[in-house]
Amino acid sequence: MSLCTLIYHNIFDDDADLAYDPFGIAVTRSTFVSHLKMLKSRYQLVSQAQITEAINPDTVLGGMDCILLTIDDGYAQGILTAAEVLREMGERALAFIPPAHIDSAGHRYWWDILADGMASERISVFEGMAMQGSATRMPYIEAEEFVRGVTGGDVGCSKRFELARWETLRIAHDVFDYGVHGLRHDCFSAVHWSQLRADLTMAKERLIAENCGAPVALAYPYGDAAAVTKEQVEHAVTNQFELAFTATKGAVVGQSRSNVLLLPRCFVSNCPSERLNDQIQRRFSSALQSQ
Ligand SMILES: [Zn+2]
Repeated sequence: MSLCTLIYHNIFDDDADLAYDPFGIAVTRSTFVSHLKMLKSRYQLVSQAQITEAINPDTVLGGMDCILLTIDDGYAQGILTAAEVLREMGERALAFIPPAHIDSAGHRYWWDILADGMASERISVFEGMAMQGSATRMPYIEAEEFVRGVTGGDVGCSKRFELARWETLRIAHDVFDYGVHGLRHDCFSAVHWSQLRADLTMAKERLIAENCGAPVALAYPYGDAAAVTKEQVEHAVTNQFELAFTATKGAVVGQSRSNVLLLPRCFVSNCPSERLNDQIQRRFSSALQSQ
């Protein structure tokens, strides 16, 4: 298997919304479409099921380099737009959801409240960036309190940051497999493994109860492999998931049995598809060199 996994987050319908994306986590619909066209023409797009089959050492996925598309955080616009495009192109993707935030009316993530604070100049960009750095190392609720305290909380609810509802996820289930992204998007290293294990069980059960399928994959919130201790993986993740993804840049090549609970993923920005292709090529060649 030769695999590069890509991470998308939000997908904006209106290109002008990119001006309010200080952390660079969104792409526009037109960028997403051009990325997919390029990926389809040069690589084999694979589904979660093909990956779980391929980690069986007897199976080799074609001769082509494979791409797995993932989309994190469960944004309404991101899920709906991606689902439309995936349907048109006959492809699938894996969406990582923190169930505690789905159907919580008007809720926005702390980093989006921070982005709005920066856009409206209630806090400086410098201050916002520093706060983002510290908040990603806190349990979710603490991070939210910290950001609300400094920015004054939600000022109007930006449509572009709205989260999907369970109904949205059920409708998009024809092209999406769902995985767990923590229960509340807590930084794993800020939570004891016993709490984490209970949270992950609850997150899995919630996805099943909402008819979104039985999740087999996990994406570590904030993607930081260094923030996940060996103990947490052993106690909380092993036996609960078949695959777990970090956001450590890289690709998996050959039959090397890389740690399926610490798989690399590459963050995608709103860049031209040629630049995305260059990044993927670099990931594959450095993975080959380090084999
Ligand atoms: Zn996330």
